[in-house]
Amino acid sequence: MVLRNESRHFRVERLAPGVHAAVATPDGFGLCNSGIVDLGGATVVFDSMLTPMAGAALARAAERCTGRAPDWVVNSHWHGDHIWGNSAFANGHVVSTRRVRQVVLQKSRKQFDDCRREFPAELAKLRAPDPSIHPDDVRELRGWFRGILATPRSHRVVPPEVTFTDELVLEGTRRSLRLISYGGGHSPSDVFGYLPDEQILFTGDLALVGYHLSVGDGWPDEWLRILARMRRLRVDSLLPGHGPLGTAKTLERGQRYLRDLTRIVRSAIRRGTPLAELERTPIPAPYRDWRFAFMFPDNLRRTYRLATAGTPRRTP
Ligand SMILES: [Zn+2]
Repeated sequence: MVLRNESRHFRVERLAPGVHAAVATPDGFGLCNSGIVDLGGATVVFDSMLTPMAGAALARAAERCTGRAPDWVVNSHWHGDHIWGNSAFANGHVVSTRRVRQVVLQKSRKQFDDCRREFPAELAKLRAPDPSIHPDDVRELRGWFRGILATPRSHRVVPPEVTFTDELVLEGTRRSLRLISYGGGHSPSDVFGYLPDEQILFTGDLALVGYHLSVGDGWPDEWLRILARMRRLRVDSLLPGHGPLGTAKTLERGQRYLRDLTRIVRSAIRRGTPLAELERTPIPAPYRDWRFAFMFPDNLRRTYRLATAGTPRRTP
């Protein structure tokens, strides 16, 4: 059920009584989806979105949905589009794995400064976009670039301050939210949220709906192992990192995508296909309508590099 358009950055949908999804709008400054959970006596937001503007709107939406300001903000992983809203949650404790904290401290400031520097040129390119980029992608990229450029240069990157390794349970009087990490697949460390009573999963970028998965900072083999474990949970509905709501089937579809990707790369390596040629592989039919098709060559490249790393060079 769509409640009402809460913000230009997202629309809020009710998943269960006390459990909501903020689904990013295509040209807003949120970019990723977020979960809002009323634990009973405490409010949790799962992922804080791309910008402090979207984060502030999310904090207000969470307060409207649950009657209290967020007490906890979860970061599913270190990527900026899931954490740069952290600074908008003045009284919320930011929580993630210890590894996510380390990577945020090492890389996030530089990632933000790099984006801030590079996006004016990237935005200009979108005025006459490559015709191979889908118009919906152009719209979303424009929101992404503009969101970063509208964020003050002095924006504070807030790292997680409460950390865990494998699992942390946030307990309330109404329900418990399990925060689980099976390691890193999409990124060096990925966290997902699970509400066992409602069988609702907040996946971060471990699962996307209608978008190419992004392997560029990840490990497809590990990711497949993580998805196999996630499939053992009972799942009724699933909020992906990007795209509309999904179901348990979304996890299966993600596995299929990663298996196909790995299969294409392995057979290219067996045949001695050079990387430049591999990158031109057409997108397999099941994924041809998926958004962010420009990710596919990057995904092939990353998978190829991982598969050939450490392989001794053949002597002539
Ligand atoms: Zn990500």
